[in-house]
Amino acid sequence: MRKPFVAGNWKMHGSKASIESLVKGLNEQANQVQNVDIAVCPPAIYIDFVQANLSADNIAVGAQNVAEEPVQGAFTGETSVEMAKDLNCAYIILGHSERRAIYGETDAQIAEKTKVVLEAGLTPILCVGETLDERESGVMEKVIADQLDAVIKVVGIDAFEKIVIAYEPVWAIGTGKTASPEQAQEVHAFIRDKLARLNRSIAEKVIIQYGGSVKPDNAAELFAQADIDGGLIGGASLNADDFMAICKAA
Ligand code: PGA
Repeated sequence: MRKPFVAGNWKMHGSKASIESLVKGLNEQANQVQNVDIAVCPPAIYIDFVQANLSADNIAVGAQNVAEEPVQGAFTGETSVEMAKDLNCAYIILGHSERRAIYGETDAQIAEKTKVVLEAGLTPILCVGETLDERESGVMEKVIADQLDAVIKVVGIDAFEKIVIAYEPVWAIGTGKTASPEQAQEVHAFIRDKLARLNRSIAEKVIIQYGGSVKPDNAAELFAQADIDGGLIGGASLNADDFMAICKAA
C-alpha cells in the first residue's frame, strides 16, 4: 500500500561530463522501473544541468540541503528552498549525517529547515540515524527519537503526511557495512511505532527509506522488510546500472 521510493544522493560528486553520461544511462533505463517513485539529488550547482538532460518523466530531482532562510538574502554560499523550487526540485534531503557531523547542523536547525521546505510545498527527506558508539552504548533509540521529536515539535505530527524519513545508521554510510535486513527493520519499526503513538494513520502512510551501503546485491532483501519502503542511495547512485537495479528491487 505504500509506494516505494528510491532516491540517489550524489553528495559532492560529478562533473558536467560524468553527469551527462549518468543521466543518459538513467534516461535509457527508467522505463524499466514501474510503481516506484525515483529521485536524484545532484550537487545544487548541477541541478539545472540535470533537469536539462533528464528526459525520463518518472525521475524527479531534489537538492541535498537548503538554508533555513526560505527565499533570499545576504547568506553567501547558501541555496534557498525557493531557488530549489525555481529549478523544479521536488525533494530536499535534510539532516544528512554528513551535514550533522561535518557542518554541525543541530536537531533544531534541521527542524527549522523542515518547516521552510514544507511551507514551500516541497517534500523533505528527513535523515535520522545513530553512530556506532550510540548503538553500542544502548542509546540508539533515544538518539533517533530525539531527532524526530525536534522536528515534530516544530512542524507537528500531521506534517509527516508530507515528509519522507530516511533511516541511515551512520556506521553504514559509505563504509560497505550495511545494516542487516533485521537490524534495519527493527529501527524502521521503532520509528513507525513512535509516530503511530501520535497518529496511527500517518504512521502507516509515511515512507521510511533505508540508507547506508545499499547495493544491487543487498537491495532486494532490505526492501522486502515490512517497514522498509525504499532507499536513500549514495555511492551506488553514481552508476546508472547500479541505481536502476536498486530501483527495480524496490
Ligand atoms: P552510501 O550513502 O549509499 O554511499 O552508503 C548513503 C547516504 O549517505 O545517503
